[in-house]
Amino acid sequence: MPSSEELQKRRATAVARGVTSVISSYVDTAAGAGIRDVDGNTWLDFASGIAVTSVGNAAPRVVAAVQAQAERFTHTCFMVAPYESYVAVCEQLIELTPGTFEKRAALFNSGAEAVENAVKIARHATGRPAVVVFDHAYHGRTNLTMALTAKVMPYKHRMGPFAPEVYRAPMSYPLRDGGLDGFSAAQKAIDVIEKQVGGPNVAAVLIEPIQGEGGFVEPAPGFLPALAEWARAAGAVFIADEIQTGFCRTGDWFASDHEGLEPDLVTTAKGMGGGLPIAGVVGRAELMDAVHAGGLGGTYGGNPIACAAALAAVETMRELDLPAAARHIGDVMLPRLRSLSVGDVRGRGAMVAVELVRPGGIEPDPVRAATAAKACHDAGLLVLTCGTYGNVLRFLPPLVITDDELARGLDIVERALLLP
Ligand SMILES: *Cc1c(COP(=O)(O)O)cnc(C)c1O
Repeated sequence: MPSSEELQKRRATAVARGVTSVISSYVDTAAGAGIRDVDGNTWLDFASGIAVTSVGNAAPRVVAAVQAQAERFTHTCFMVAPYESYVAVCEQLIELTPGTFEKRAALFNSGAEAVENAVKIARHATGRPAVVVFDHAYHGRTNLTMALTAKVMPYKHRMGPFAPEVYRAPMSYPLRDGGLDGFSAAQKAIDVIEKQVGGPNVAAVLIEPIQGEGGFVEPAPGFLPALAEWARAAGAVFIADEIQTGFCRTGDWFASDHEGLEPDLVTTAKGMGGGLPIAGVVGRAELMDAVHAGGLGGTYGGNPIACAAALAAVETMRELDLPAAARHIGDVMLPRLRSLSVGDVRGRGAMVAVELVRPGGIEPDPVRAATAAKACHDAGLLVLTCGTYGNVLRFLPPLVITDDELARGLDIVERALLLP
């Protein structure tokens, strides 16, 4: 087997430089929260491939479902010859997302594609152009979703022009907005929307209930309900982008559940497929069904193998009560990290972060975050950084991680964060 070093050399002459990796070790096998690289080193996984393998890597039910489906048929295209598993995944989305109103769903391949389609649906249903997004937002890397994403480097630099009719409003960010309460922060955002966009022009208000790539920013309580209420009154569609937060990650099936939020549309991907690429848009039937026949779709959306994986992942989440597992992970991680008195420790369930700041204030310290991440990697723990200022160390362990693995990972994080 080639070593990671050899593979790095091959990569340099074959893979585009724009595609980077967090570590330079190449994966041989992975299971649960463990990864083994091609040189025989073992890694503990606090990243889950960016919140994807919530049911664990190569989860037994997912593997069995994928194998069985691959032998039955691999692809027909749901738009050509339909099959049951696509319908069953839509039924699960309808059942699991907040709100008991009548819903419909549609399946896609990636998070960005789901967000694009949610915007298409909102614009079509309302006949309005404007989409309101927030500071620090991340919604993907396609042209429309680059426009929706806030951060220029590395996502948008020299890649414009971007899609029009996208407007950015201030986010509730308790560490950095002077601790505004949720209602006041929402009023500030609504003021920007009303003055700069105008309620009757707004097709959709699109927001991550807890921001992911932007820095695991959890808005102050009341912020999301106030925005949803404004959107309802203005006749705009309230879209929760639950691509990172959804499917048990934050200790509920969806982060919107936390404040009893019932978004008009929800976008899902990442954890939903148990490691296979699948995404969805689910929400109010009258919005979803506003689009004419043939107006939504794609060649691979809801591919049968990905659908089989998603159904097996959801079964695993139910059977192992992974919302409870996520809450347990948060209950273990948050106090331990807070006891270190380093940076701003925040998170919900198994979506946990430390935002590193310079002593005595809130000035971002990205160097410290990078140093700590590297120390974790050197000790065999896979962690990620994020944030507009690159100063947030974030943890997304698989929800099936054992207490022993979690404790070992936290020992490594603790040593890394206490480095001078
Ligand atoms: C990852 C992510 C996306 C984009 O998903 P892709 O599958 O990478 O296209 C969109 N929104 C949020 C909140 C995400 O975390």
